[in-house]
Amino acid sequence: MLIANEESSGSFGSFPEPINVAGAPVMPFTSYEQALAAIERTVERREKTFWVAINPQKCFRAWRERPLMDLLNRADVGICDGVGVSIAAKILHGNRIKRVTGCDLFFRLLPLAAQKSWGVYLLGASPESNGCASEKLRQKYPGLRIVGCQDGYFDDSAKVVEHINASKPDLLFVAMGSPTQEFWISKHREAINASFCMGVGGSFDVASGMAKRAPAVFRKTGTEWLFQLMTQPTRRFRRQTVYVPFMLRVVGARLAGTNGSTQWSLDPAEE
Ligand code: UDP
Repeated sequence: MLIANEESSGSFGSFPEPINVAGAPVMPFTSYEQALAAIERTVERREKTFWVAINPQKCFRAWRERPLMDLLNRADVGICDGVGVSIAAKILHGNRIKRVTGCDLFFRLLPLAAQKSWGVYLLGASPESNGCASEKLRQKYPGLRIVGCQDGYFDDSAKVVEHINASKPDLLFVAMGSPTQEFWISKHREAINASFCMGVGGSFDVASGMAKRAPAVFRKTGTEWLFQLMTQPTRRFRRQTVYVPFMLRVVGARLAGTNGSTQWSLDPAEE
């Protein structure tokens, strides 16, 4: 379960073994430091990795959309983004997986990127939010090399990929909402030269100040969903409704004793 030693080779040599949570492989990182160390190693080795944040909403949708389930299984690293995934791991396998959220990983990677002089590319959000986020992040993390920016409302993906590669980033963050951002990364991963790619949802809006992050008390207790529901009820209500059917299915799999071996996909073509 620990990051392998310096001698290990290949992308997966640096990571713990993933655990199947509701159909998606999730890395049981024990701390942010462990995840950061894994990223540092992949960047230093110039390996290409695609990280994806796993939460109940994404799993729930992937049960119905085979291409999304395939994507979650093709990504190099799935992180435990949602408290529901952590609880599901406990129900299915007896151990909770510590949360390593996409948003927190983003904000913890930036000072490391500044320290290591890694190039960072910010793709996504509105032009105002993207511009304001890069400005504020440069101020917040002196030395941070934001080598390229592009808002998330574009038509020509080939041109964007060209711009990314010309900017030579080590880290590419894509903030275009889920699962659009994951599909975009997956489609272009091979053509993109950046070592590390990850979708970060609304994180640029948080960085720019256009969206409010849940206060620490909600983040620490895994109840950001409650804060979001209180502050943006109409926008968030539909998303939060998946928690109940997600948990019911997980509990059902546990009671049936099928746990990780369950065929999670609900795609009628699969049944
Ligand atoms: N967005 C984008 N391009 C699009 C649609 C959305 O760049 O075509 C951006 C949007 O401006 C916002 C982010 O994607 O900054 C979505 O944030 P949200 O909090 O909805 O992310 P999620 O919860 O889906 O991960």
